[in-house]
This record gives sequence, C-alpha cells and structure tokens, in this order.
Amino acid sequence: MRIDRLLQRTIRTAIKAQGVGVHSGKSVKIFLKPAPPNTGIVFRRIDLDPVVEIPASVHHVVDTALCTCIGYQGQSVNTVEHIMSALAAFSIDNLHIDITDKEIPIMDGSAAQFIFLLQAAGVVDQPVQRQYFVVKKTVSITDEQSGAVATLSPFNGYRIDITIDYDHPDIPDKCSNAVFDFSLTEFVRRVARSRTFGFLSDYNSLRKKGMALGSSLNNSICLDDAAVMNRDGLRFFDELVRHKILDAVGDHYLLGYPLQGFFKGFKTGHAMNNRLLLAVLSDPDAWEIKHANELGWNV
Ligand SMILES: [Zn+2]
Repeated sequence: MRIDRLLQRTIRTAIKAQGVGVHSGKSVKIFLKPAPPNTGIVFRRIDLDPVVEIPASVHHVVDTALCTCIGYQGQSVNTVEHIMSALAAFSIDNLHIDITDKEIPIMDGSAAQFIFLLQAAGVVDQPVQRQYFVVKKTVSITDEQSGAVATLSPFNGYRIDITIDYDHPDIPDKCSNAVFDFSLTEFVRRVARSRTFGFLSDYNSLRKKGMALGSSLNNSICLDDAAVMNRDGLRFFDELVRHKILDAVGDHYLLGYPLQGFFKGFKTGHAMNNRLLLAVLSDPDAWEIKHANELGWNV
C-alpha cells in the first residue's frame, strides 16, 4: 500500500472488533471510524453517558505500570499501545475509536489483528498536509533504580534501537538487541506479530491483585524460571525485543505526530517511553513541528 507522506489520512470505512481486556478479563468491543482532518486519534468511551472523549496524547498518560493508560475528564482507557502502534504503521492521523469498556482488547497480544483490521477498512488520504514531530537536539533520561536509559536524537527518518536485559536462561544475549528503521512494510514483516510477554512469577502476583485476568498463553508469551512456556514457542527468535519496539512505536505515536528521530532504549518500557517524551517536550529547543514538504524529502 502506497503511503503519501505529505497528506493526513484516515480509514475508508468503519470497522469493528471484539476481544478481552488483558487486565480486566472483560469482553470489549471497539469500533474504528473515519474522522475529519486535524481530529487526531480520539478514544470515545461509549459505555458512559454522556460519552467521554479521550484524545490520544502523551499529556494524557496517567499510568504506565503494566501498559500505557490514558485518561481525561476522570475516565481512562488502558492498553492503548498496540493499536496506536498499528495506527502509526499505517500513518493514520485521524480516527475515532469507540470502545465499550476501559481497556483495548488484547487480541493475540500483538498488533497483527489491528493491522488486519486497518487493511480491511482501507486507508484514504485527506486534503490537509501532515505534520511531523522533528527531534532537534539529543535528550536522554536514566532510571537510577533499574539502570534503564532512553535517548531521542535528531535523525533523518525514524529509527528505534532497543536492548533488553533479563537475567533468564531462555533469553540469550543474541535476543537482546534489535534495530528497526520505520516503514509499514518492515513493521508488518518484522514487528507487528510480536506478542506481549511476562514472567510466571509476576503473573501469579498480579492475579492475586485482581489483574492480568484476561491474560493467557493465547495472548501472551509467558516465561517460567527456565523457559518459554508457550507450546509453540516464539514467533521470532528475538520476539521479546521486537515487542519492545512495537510498544515504543505505539507510545511514541501519542505525540500526536509521526516522529522524526532516533530512539535508543536500554531496558526501557512504557514508563521510560513516556518520561522521555515529556522531557523532550519540556525543552522548546529540542523539537519542532514541521510539514512533510519542509523535511527535504524527495516525495
Ligand atoms: Zn506491549
């Protein structure tokens, strides 16, 4: 599918899906609907009366403990990162996402089914120029406790380089780093099918707290002390770090614009992704919004 990088885009026709929330365990429906230019991505909690609109924005992130949760006007929607990642892949600028509960369905734990939905809905250009979030200066943050480091630097394109570091016998060193140069084709080929993952020890304690109620081996990779527990194993030898890339693409898309920059992450997750974006935004010299035709591309 050709992507015109100059123009904003929405979907051609409305489409719906149904699944369970990975934390709530509840059945939830989502309806993706075309939206006019300059709307952005807006979640709408249609189970509430009146309906509450929650714009997808880095400023609305209210929780990053287990997923990325955005909230507005006292209401929230959880686990937005995988659908946001699929929307970033298709360069969808404007969309209404109506939802019947407070959690986006986990589907198979990856972005594959959201990609399938968007392919089925089709994508249309809109007669308004796209804008991009351009990183102008390197900004880096660290987390003293975990040793995590996240950096955004100027870059002619959108590149993600993530290293994970788990002391686990089934995650050898070769699985710990991946670099991704953003394009729809590469996203679909290398990233979209990678699933969320967790450790059995964490899963048991989350269950006791009434969380991860919808989690299963059908929608998550689970590792016990020795190995991956899923009977069919991994979809890619480095599926875990690929999923970290998937999450980062989704979290970055909460900027409200496609990113032009180089993200480098060591032991990063949703919390670091959000902290880094807020750190960049807090420095007016570190970024600017530009139209595509100002980026010097041969389009
Ligand atoms: Zn994820």
